[in-house]
Amino acid sequence: MTKKTPRIEIDLAKIAHNVRTLIESYGAKGIRSFIGVTKGVCGDPVIARVFRKNGISILADSRIENFQRMEEAGIRGPFLLLRLPTLSEVEAVVGHTEYSLNSEISVIRGLSEAALKNNTVHKVILMVELGDLREGVMPQDLEAITEEVLPLKGVKLVGIGSNLGCYGGVEPDDKNMSLLSSLAQGLEKKYRLQLQFVSIGCSNTFTWLKAVQKTKRIDNVRVGDALLLGGRDLKEHGIPGLYYDAFTLIAEVIEAKTKPSVPWGEIGLDAFGSIPKFEDRGEMRRLILNIGRQDFFFTLIYPRVDIEILGASSDHLLADGRRTGLQVGDEVAFDLDYGAMLVAMTSPYVQKIYLNSEGYL
Ligand SMILES: *Cc1c(COP(=O)(O)O)cnc(C)c1O
Repeated sequence: MTKKTPRIEIDLAKIAHNVRTLIESYGAKGIRSFIGVTKGVCGDPVIARVFRKNGISILADSRIENFQRMEEAGIRGPFLLLRLPTLSEVEAVVGHTEYSLNSEISVIRGLSEAALKNNTVHKVILMVELGDLREGVMPQDLEAITEEVLPLKGVKLVGIGSNLGCYGGVEPDDKNMSLLSSLAQGLEKKYRLQLQFVSIGCSNTFTWLKAVQKTKRIDNVRVGDALLLGGRDLKEHGIPGLYYDAFTLIAEVIEAKTKPSVPWGEIGLDAFGSIPKFEDRGEMRRLILNIGRQDFFFTLIYPRVDIEILGASSDHLLADGRRTGLQVGDEVAFDLDYGAMLVAMTSPYVQKIYLNSEGYL
């Protein structure tokens, strides 16, 4: 494939290393099964294959379209839907996935009916709210919903789970993790169940994991960010021993000129509806690169050379290039955060190039 800009280069050897390392670290503390999350890369089939090849069996995503994309590339389930299913989409959920995370009985009833029509049994993990205030039933309501789910013929309750650090920023700690463990043990005892999963997420579970001896009844984890970017967005800035730079965004300089640092003329709104503010720093060597907000999130990319990002419009990135000798035609590489990786992987304008595919696919 001829390389062009903008492009994202994805080092499969680094992702494979992250997958194997994390499975081992979590495994040492009692996590028996590991779910690989592909939503940060839109269900990219090449990356999904690297996950599979290095020990992950269940692939999880938040969108049905991403499972379809993997299926079209020949990747088979088991798949797990992360985002709570919509009531209007239960047929598709049952058709494309084996597992889903749930918290609403009306949807679980819908899944059960759809599964019966399809002659299958769909596997359900009930989410429990532990304080982050995204999905999940309140702990005191877990038994009531369990009693409604158990009689349904088209679904099987295979686990309970929780999600922390995605909305409220709540960290996993001994208190909330012990509560999840004891809720699971309570359900198993009261209803004579053997839960396949007591599942936690996301990548921020690693900090807690490091601090504990054993994870008690918790035996499953759902992780994406840490596999792809080494958890570089986490509070403690990454997980030691992982690669943070498996993804590189590359853009090209399309103008390099010395100009003033403040615009002149009548100032109105910018293209995104706000009034721009500028600090006078005298003349500077201004660079324009061929990426914009349609391709990435400009607050979340970090140049690997010494340029300073000034701003971006839909298709242009403006940077102060005084400390470099960059010329028109030069390429500039950037590290990405999760949000920037997600946008770049979603943009059809950003070419995807896979590095080190030998042995990792
Ligand atoms: C996104 C998501 C994960 C994985 O989160 P990462 O931060 O990418 O590790 C796990 N569980 C649920 C429910 C999610 O939505």
